[in-house]
Amino acid sequence: MAISVYNTMTRNKEVFVPLVEGCVSMYACGVTTYDVCHIGHGMQALIYDVIREYLKFRGYQVTYVRNYTDVDDKIIARAAELGVPALEHAQTMIDLSEQDMALMGIEPADIRPKVSDNIPEIIGLIESLIKRGFAYETEGDVYFKVRAFEGYGQLSNRNVEELRSGSRIEISERKQDPVDFALWKQAKPGEVSWPSPWGDGRPGWHIECSALAMKFLGEQFDIHGGGKDLIFPHHENEVAQSVCGTDGGFAKYWVHNGLVTVDGRKMSKSFNNFMSIQDAVEKYHPEAIRYAILRNHYGANIDFSEQAFYDAYSRLIYFYNTLAKVDALADSFPDAPESVPAGLAVPDLVSAFTEAMDDDFNSACAVRELGQAIKWVNDVMASKKPKLAQKIHTIRQVVRDIRRCASVLRLLDTAPNVALESLKQYLIRRRGIDHDQVLQLIADRDQARANKDWAEADRLREELTTLGIVIMDSPEGTQWQVQP
Ligand SMILES: [Zn+2]
Repeated sequence: MAISVYNTMTRNKEVFVPLVEGCVSMYACGVTTYDVCHIGHGMQALIYDVIREYLKFRGYQVTYVRNYTDVDDKIIARAAELGVPALEHAQTMIDLSEQDMALMGIEPADIRPKVSDNIPEIIGLIESLIKRGFAYETEGDVYFKVRAFEGYGQLSNRNVEELRSGSRIEISERKQDPVDFALWKQAKPGEVSWPSPWGDGRPGWHIECSALAMKFLGEQFDIHGGGKDLIFPHHENEVAQSVCGTDGGFAKYWVHNGLVTVDGRKMSKSFNNFMSIQDAVEKYHPEAIRYAILRNHYGANIDFSEQAFYDAYSRLIYFYNTLAKVDALADSFPDAPESVPAGLAVPDLVSAFTEAMDDDFNSACAVRELGQAIKWVNDVMASKKPKLAQKIHTIRQVVRDIRRCASVLRLLDTAPNVALESLKQYLIRRRGIDHDQVLQLIADRDQARANKDWAEADRLREELTTLGIVIMDSPEGTQWQVQP
């Protein structure tokens, strides 16, 4: 089976054939570093990290580039408010964003170029566009001549006339045509700037991604990713600049992820519902966030609501409990036979997982397959026949497969007892449960059991249930969890 990818450019699911056999080159737009990262940035980074991991799982050597926009109007404005140099403010935000991504368990991209480190490449691309007749200079600004590129609008599926009447275009006296967009902006007094053939200035936003992607991955590369909200104008303009400025074809597959909503609404300043990564991991468990994202297809929008997370907690607790149960038998049955007991149907999780992810990185389906395998382990453990000693080897094999597949999604990679304890702490906080009260009730119940006062023990169990606490009696004493 081959991997298939939905390509925004062709609006089709296509068979994925990388330009160089065995290797994948991938670019995803990074953050504009004027403020701390919100959960939408986190989700985008998580998705391309998982796509990279999956491609590696399928045997590809992957080079993944994610840029930092450290030169931009918003950065300049914020730095001026704070009274620090713009690049210094941007660097502070870059460092914070790397810490935040680590909090979410996201591995950094292989190459993380900053715009300010790559100005000569950006100027070079603009010069090429001018030379080829696709750009012009006016009073220190340089603009891309949109009507000179016939293919403009293909990615976002719109035509230039629509754009003219659209409200999103920036009006400027310096442009020959309102639909043209800036490649280079003349410096205003006091702004961070670099010398160029058109005087001191700084690059526009779109040109940097074209220049950085091509510098690190070549004029043509495999995958370009980003949020759906970047298709127009950002990615449309990237295509125009790259295709017109070089002889390469730029990105072969355009992949776009969905966006985050908070309690059903788009995150926006006017709704005052921006959720930073730090707020999100404080409020929800990082692995629950990951689960809540990956149980959807990457192209879907994800709603961050209390309700969405209870399901994630409940599934993770169920998964980790299953792993803990099997791990607890680690030293048991040293002489267990390695053969699969007759009549026991064993799931082929690795194949099912691969088939799911091959289909346009469908993690929703992959997570369902993991859940099925976990259910199988529970059912087989609970069944009387065959005896545990006969089937333990097969169960362990399935659990190894579960861990292997989950690790591609960076799920279930914590020791079960550590993960369960940390999920419990989140739930205690979220539900406002009094930890000491729970411990006291459990101690009282243990005492009642020791006194063989079964009626009192049952009454205390009921009281705990009312608080949302589930009790499990085990040889190591009473275990408890919070009902998600
Ligand atoms: Zn970009």
